[in-house]
Amino acid sequence: MTRQLCAENATPEYIAMADLQLSGISKRFGDVQAVSDLSLDIQSGEFIVLLGPSGAGKTTTLRLVAGLETPEAGAIHIGGREVTALAPALRDVTFVFQQYSLYPHLSVFDNLAFPLRSPLRPVAEPEIKRKVLEVARMLRIEDKLQNPATRLSGGQMQRVAIGRALVRSPAIYLMDEPLSSLDAKLRNDLRLELKRIQQDLGATMLYVTHDQTEALTMATRVGVLEQGRLVQLGTPRQIYEDPVSSYVASRLGAPRINLVPRSALGVLAAPERAVTAGIRSEHVGLAKKVISAFATGASHTSTDAHDADLSAKVLRVERLSDQYLVHVALANSSQELICAPALNMLLEPGDTVYLHIKNMFWFDASGQRIRF
Ligand code: ATP
Repeated sequence: MTRQLCAENATPEYIAMADLQLSGISKRFGDVQAVSDLSLDIQSGEFIVLLGPSGAGKTTTLRLVAGLETPEAGAIHIGGREVTALAPALRDVTFVFQQYSLYPHLSVFDNLAFPLRSPLRPVAEPEIKRKVLEVARMLRIEDKLQNPATRLSGGQMQRVAIGRALVRSPAIYLMDEPLSSLDAKLRNDLRLELKRIQQDLGATMLYVTHDQTEALTMATRVGVLEQGRLVQLGTPRQIYEDPVSSYVASRLGAPRINLVPRSALGVLAAPERAVTAGIRSEHVGLAKKVISAFATGASHTSTDAHDADLSAKVLRVERLSDQYLVHVALANSSQELICAPALNMLLEPGDTVYLHIKNMFWFDASGQRIRF
């Protein structure tokens, strides 16, 4: 599909974008089932982030869409056209890799112009110049256009690599951890720019990252992969607030969700098959324990899974720039938890605290969520 851009500051006048369907895709390498019966329906203009630990099948999924791998089963459609057996060059996708791959002997301008000079899609030189300048402006590298590609900082090189994808206006952008080799500040800047550019272009993006800030801030939907299977697809908020399993719950959230054996939580009411509780740090309220209040029976008592009261000892306190984290050990089980209390709470290692768990998930023996 081709549409005219509406956004005022959007650059190329016409952009191509398309929806993408993966239907029952499988890919095996020897004994390793890298991708397993994966179906994914991406709407035109969506920003989909694939999350999962190393080896979950993220890169293989991108490579299958790009045509760099061939699936043993399933079909891939881009813009309604089946491309499963089509050569990469005929799929109208661009791929940005984690490690920028620029032509060192070419200038930044010629690196950016390179995809437009492909014999498959000839573009007139004045149009090439216009597009390169537009993209260079978007990525704030217009003053580097005459530099040799080798005379750039790492961040500038990665901008050029991303720019090479943007000049083409393909049907689908595939990005494999494009920001992971950059330092924290550059990564932050480029993350915001990339999201702005994607929105301005209305581009369809399939993006792989390990970085949950990128997933939370950029994705329209997040797909969580586990051993080649897509185990949940939803908005970042759905994935965070309503995970289908302990595995999914562990993918988003810093610090990582506390996974606590049921037995460590004492008499807490729980569903029958519950084996593990998932407790996010911000869902634990802390109060300094007042011994006399407990002695007179004024302490809270647990009534159900969402109103659990427990006492614990403070092990460590971390004051980060935007977070206050308190590591505690439960009094009756020594189980450790990370809690994020109010910033103004003054706690020291050794303090006894009272925990109030405001919300939690229950998981069964296989890690699947139990709803009740
Ligand atoms: P990472 O985050 O480390 O890049 P990933 O989620 O992208 O991991 P993939 O690179 O897709 O994972 O790999 C999935 C599985 O397939 C892994 O077990 C990997 O070792 C295997 N694999 C991928 N490519 C090949 C290949 N060309 N030959 C053999 N095995 C491969």
